[in-house]
Amino acid sequence: MTKRPLHPRSLAAQAMGEIDPLTKGVVTPIHIATTYIRDEDNGYSSGFVYGRPDNETVREAETVLAMLEEAKAGALLFSSGMAAATAVFQALSPGDHVVASKVMYWALRSWLLTEATRWGLKIEFVETDDLTALKAAVKPGVTKLVWAETPSNPLWTITDIAAAAEIAHAAGAKLAVDSTCASPVHTRPLTLGADIVMHAATKVLNGHSDVVAGALCAREDDAFWNRVKTVRKMQGGILGPFEAYLLMRGMRTLHVRQERQTASAMTLAQKLSAHPLVARVLYPGLPQHPGHDIAARQMQNGFGYMLSIQVTGGEKAAIKAAAHVELYKRATSLGGVESLIEHRASIEGAGSPCPVDLLRLSTGIEDVEDLYNDLDQALKTGHA
Ligand SMILES: *Cc1c(COP(=O)(O)O)cnc(C)c1O
Repeated sequence: MTKRPLHPRSLAAQAMGEIDPLTKGVVTPIHIATTYIRDEDNGYSSGFVYGRPDNETVREAETVLAMLEEAKAGALLFSSGMAAATAVFQALSPGDHVVASKVMYWALRSWLLTEATRWGLKIEFVETDDLTALKAAVKPGVTKLVWAETPSNPLWTITDIAAAAEIAHAAGAKLAVDSTCASPVHTRPLTLGADIVMHAATKVLNGHSDVVAGALCAREDDAFWNRVKTVRKMQGGILGPFEAYLLMRGMRTLHVRQERQTASAMTLAQKLSAHPLVARVLYPGLPQHPGHDIAARQMQNGFGYMLSIQVTGGEKAAIKAAAHVELYKRATSLGGVESLIEHRASIEGAGSPCPVDLLRLSTGIEDVEDLYNDLDQALKTGHA
């Protein structure tokens, strides 16, 4: 690598410039060994002991992500986004009080309400974009963790990360941010005061809908981060080397994918705002979005690849419109190069804050005119 400081996109494009020391290949090999030779003196001078905690391919991918998130204490990859998220909560102790976003990834909310509660955590849900509500919920000396998802699924509400960090820290709590829908191209929560950032790397970090993976990054290598490391090492929610390799390959093109996806999401948000069959567009890039001003401050390079629309004609029209897409794929998940559409209320079930007339759109890298025309014809057919 050069002596001059390089931009994250340059470092990511070359996966930190690593080469294979044996062949000088520009792509490093996938390390698959589960065990490593001991030295004659019984030590492990390589630093690699056993495959569960130690894998070079996983570590290389972690180095790329830690660079992207400006994570001084590094990154840890997990077998899924849920494994990463739940490791943070499992690093707490029974009886600890947690304040979490009311609008968040539905499976995690459901886990918090069932498993985490069973395990003795006291979870309180608030609108974390409402700082007064957040302040009122955080109890000094009692609350140990604030968990905020921003932009939050599927309404794309924006939590002010710097302000939330201040509130959490004043009470002696950590702030963890699920930044899956921002990606480090748009927001680096650790630089704004968050302690931990979580990613469903299944989504835009990998970007090709062919890997399930999760990640955590930390600002400080403190006792809490060490608890998280222990949880991963002992419970074994690790990422396999093949998946880590694919994820690293995906991250090499993160910036170009995000540029296309984010520009298209903005174009779609603007054009759909003027569509007669769309009642409301939810996208933080639109000035009328309640979180727009904060998003403009804490997001760079655009406002992300996710948006939602509420259709005129209610739930039936929404489901019918989703049934008539031809280019969009009718599927859950997000962040891939192919655009996806989903009626969220039917998957989230009872207790979800998701309106029934809402369709969630994950913007891929297809031609934006083709995407708009597909939605336009689907909305018209759905309404007929
Ligand atoms: C998908 C997702 C998760 C969970 O990740 P998995 O890899 O599916 O376990 C968590 N948070 C957000 C915002 C997500 O979109």
